[in-house]
This record gives sequence, C-alpha cells and structure tokens, in this order.
Amino acid sequence: MLILLDRDGVLNQDYPDDYVKSPAELILLPGVGEAIAQLNARGWPVALCTNQACVGKGIIDEAMLTRIHNDLRDRIARDAGAHIDAIFFAPDPPWAVTDRRKPGPGMLREAMRQFHATPEQTVFIGDAVTDMQAATAAGCRRILVRTGKGKKTQAAGLPEAVLPVTIAESLPDAVARLLHEETDETIR
Ligand SMILES: [Mg+2]
Repeated sequence: MLILLDRDGVLNQDYPDDYVKSPAELILLPGVGEAIAQLNARGWPVALCTNQACVGKGIIDEAMLTRIHNDLRDRIARDAGAHIDAIFFAPDPPWAVTDRRKPGPGMLREAMRQFHATPEQTVFIGDAVTDMQAATAAGCRRILVRTGKGKKTQAAGLPEAVLPVTIAESLPDAVARLLHEETDETIR
C-alpha cells in the first residue's frame, strides 16, 4: 500500500491563515514520528503531498521549504527512526492554480506513478475537505484526521461526492487502523 499524507494539520500544527515559514515554526503533533516508523516497518512507502502557496506567493523561497523539510526528516529520524520516502509540494499561488494544487489530483497522481501504485493500492490521509476532494479525483481511499482543521472539516459536513471517508482521531490512530486491517486480512 502507498500512504500519502497531507503535511499541515496531519504531521504538524496547522496555522489557520498563516504558513510554516521556518523549521522553528514546524511543531510536530504527538506520536507522528512513531506512526511513520510503523508504516516504514510494514514496508509501505510514505509520501507527503502538500500545498505550499507560500512559495508561489514569495513568502518563503524553495530553499527555505527544503530546509523545513530536511529538518522535519531529521526530527522524525532522531525521534523514532522514521523516514519519508518522497515529498511532493504544489507552490501554486491562488492566482495561478494548476491541477497539482489540491483539490486537484496532480500531486497524488505523480506520487502513484513514482511508486508504481494503483489508486486502489493508495490511501490519502488529510485534515481538509480539499484533501478528500483531491483523493476522490485521484481515485484513492480517504482518511480524515481530526487534528489540524479536521474537527471543523468533519463538523461542516463532508460533501457526498467525497464519501466514503474514514474518520481517525490523529495520524497515529489512522496508522493503527490501517495496520489492524492488514492483520485482519492476513487472518482471513
Ligand atoms: Mg492540512
């Protein structure tokens, strides 16, 4: 299985109406490194698909985004021995949106191509309705976490078009569910 993750609100604290502009502003949520390590141990590739309009808007440059992501990689490696296999980001500003920017499916399709995974073999975990829309457009299975914008997303009511969506409390909870399912399958 290929595991695709949104970044802000799933791995790290989401700032409504602001961006993570430096490594210091990236605050990891509890248990995230360990959850990714469990996916690594299971042999499932893990990739991020993250909208970062702050790059297209010129708020940070791509070099800073790379620093933030290198720091994220260092921290989960140090905390939990975890690694992320690939990071896809959409720098598109709102005035120049391509299909790579979620709710478009472009980044998810790139990830599936890179890892030779079909949509049926792919799960997307996010906290926003746009994540669920992107995953629906790409044909992947969807899990909404209640961290970040997740509680608000759930309370607002998910559009019928994105259903079915599995609800999880957090990334560690989502990962536990996926690993448990896998065990069930093995028993059957
Ligand atoms: Mg998010």
